[in-house]
Amino acid sequence: MATPSASLKILMAAPEIAPFAKTGGLGDVAGSLPPALRRLGLEVRLVMPFYRVSQAAAPRARDTGLRLRAAAGSKILEAEVWQAELEGCPVYFIKQDALYDRDGLYQDKSGDFPDNPQRFIFFCQAVLELARALDYAADIVHLHDWQTGLAAAYLKSRLSDPGPLAGAKSLLTIHNLAFQGVFGRDIFPQTGLPPEMNSMGGLEFWGNLSFLKAGLVFSDALTTVSPNYAREIQTPAGGMGMDGILASRAGALTGILNGADYGQWSPQSDAFIPKHYSPDDLAGKQACRQALLKVFGLEAPGPATTVAGFVGRLAWQKGMDILAEAAPRLLLDDVRLCILGTGEPYLEAQAKELAKAHPGRVGVRLLFSEELAHLVQAGADLMVMPSRFEPCGLNQIYALKYGTAPVVSATGGLKDTVEPFDPSSGEGTGFLLEKPAPADLLCALREAMWTKARPELWRRLQLNAMSRDFSWGRNAEEYADLYRRLAVR
Ligand code: ADP
Repeated sequence: MATPSASLKILMAAPEIAPFAKTGGLGDVAGSLPPALRRLGLEVRLVMPFYRVSQAAAPRARDTGLRLRAAAGSKILEAEVWQAELEGCPVYFIKQDALYDRDGLYQDKSGDFPDNPQRFIFFCQAVLELARALDYAADIVHLHDWQTGLAAAYLKSRLSDPGPLAGAKSLLTIHNLAFQGVFGRDIFPQTGLPPEMNSMGGLEFWGNLSFLKAGLVFSDALTTVSPNYAREIQTPAGGMGMDGILASRAGALTGILNGADYGQWSPQSDAFIPKHYSPDDLAGKQACRQALLKVFGLEAPGPATTVAGFVGRLAWQKGMDILAEAAPRLLLDDVRLCILGTGEPYLEAQAKELAKAHPGRVGVRLLFSEELAHLVQAGADLMVMPSRFEPCGLNQIYALKYGTAPVVSATGGLKDTVEPFDPSSGEGTGFLLEKPAPADLLCALREAMWTKARPELWRRLQLNAMSRDFSWGRNAEEYADLYRRLAVR
């Protein structure tokens, strides 16, 4: 490391932070990066909304007595500030029950909450108000995804008083460009931002407003969660309408790969799996496999059977439909399939159909279960991710540590983290699909099964995979270096 970072103060605002709230990888990252930064000597304070699920997950959180006022639509609302700790980092919860005390973080069964714009306008204003209430002169305000994008605009707005954040630099991390926080332009007056920000050089996005774009335009620096995704999003094919803006900010955009928290995700210590195992002794994986098959109601297979797992949001992005389309041909081979996910009703229905058509061979659990996610990682032979795009992807990173071979699309962070296995040299950690299509998936899965049928090669692949280190150390240092460069500007 170049210089000591003891004096750097970070205020990190995220819409979800594990273990207090999580819908995907962002929650994991916002929960594991801050402790890693703290270990590097930085002071990190976190802020997030106090959702119903967070109130349950943080029973020891206490009311600080601080009160904030901010606008939500036409109303000024007050919020209480509650506090908990995450491995030594203070976590401040913005408690505004009318906005956040409900089932779901951003949506329920009937779709996105209609007041999401107000919920996150309020949250972004509360971030600045919190710094004022705490008199916390952060050097860096680190924002995550569209829900926090407006905070970058407030820091730059001539109409807001940033208080102790007057000298702060802002950094926005893009976890997924597909979530853009797009709302009607009539919302703009509710933001309290000056009219000049209601323009192409501001929040305006194809005739609407995008809260993500506020972050892309007004943050001092941008990161995304893998180097390859940083390149992809600057192209029309991967930019989702934001490629022009991102290309114009190329000098401010860096790809920093997400890290894994092996304290949570390691077969040697995992709290959720029936038996631990390690590269020196993989025997425990067998017990995990039996447990997995039982939980998913699948026929106990012989040792030659391949158990393939899918864990993730059931969204178009993740390609569960590609797996479903490939499944009838795939299941002609000796394969069991475990699918864990929740999401789009049409994909949930497709998964259910698949299980019905192949009883005993395909098991589907349509729920969000941390415990089952760990069990699939440990018990499966293959982790299938036929994603159409994937900013980083954590599942394949976890899978490597569990000696579970990732079968992934050659896109985004998947390409940065999975090395194709070469049977002639014995190098590599997984299998890549050229395109996210059923035929390519089948081809990659057959390659995986061919390898698995050769125990020496398979052992070699597993050991390669388990030896890869994606822990936060080096990547957290990259963030610290970036903060430092920003702070001296
Ligand atoms: P994304 O952030 O796009 O959802 P990632 O692969 O980066 O995808 O992270 C997914 C995280 O969410 C992993 O920790 C994974 O275990 C978890 N996850 C996704 N779906 C479920 C589910 N149904 N139950 C439990 N955990 C899930």
